[in-house]
Amino acid sequence: MHYNIHTHHFSNNSEIVELVNQYPNEINTELPNFTVGIHPWYLNENTFLDDLAVIENTIQLPNFKAVGECGLDKRIETSIEIQKKILIPQLLLAEKYKKPVILHCVAAYQEIIEIKKELKLTIPMVIHGFSKNSQVAESLIKNGFYLSFGKYLLQNPELENVLKTIPLNQLFLETDMIDQTIFEVYSKAEHVLNINLEPIIEENYNRVFNQ
Ligand SMILES: [Zn+2]
Repeated sequence: MHYNIHTHHFSNNSEIVELVNQYPNEINTELPNFTVGIHPWYLNENTFLDDLAVIENTIQLPNFKAVGECGLDKRIETSIEIQKKILIPQLLLAEKYKKPVILHCVAAYQEIIEIKKELKLTIPMVIHGFSKNSQVAESLIKNGFYLSFGKYLLQNPELENVLKTIPLNQLFLETDMIDQTIFEVYSKAEHVLNINLEPIIEENYNRVFNQ
């Protein structure tokens, strides 16, 4: 079995377990596995409380696997303060119901680490679409984050050396919005690491998303 922990597209393939990302205003609770979050790109202070209520009303469904994607993005116009105001209640909901979180993080790694410490979060937190250097990776790993690789691993050869430094029990793979399949992401990562990742990612998936 192949595990795709972040995609926006339900492929309905029996060889893939995939966490389909959904937004609160358009949830399909029939999907076998999904995540729901308020993305910093699309946050709206007027609908925010309703969106949070939608998350809390569906979060206990067994196929609701994680809160997210949600996060912080310093490359957009919305201030970090407003973004935190929307992110923190989502993290607290995840903690309350013991669900993991899928994080979108752009140039705000230190802030995310601080929030995790300040709120004393115990739930697993996965940084999706990791694309940074090994120093950033190391500090996230040290603070207990999981890192998920996909698009940038296929596009950027420098990321191969970063991948080699990630402890295997903190690793996930994803396709997000790319055209390539999760099988292609697995074979790229397996080629870089020279290892069969299927049992490793399966164990990680079960530990984080199936408890
Ligand atoms: Zn995404």
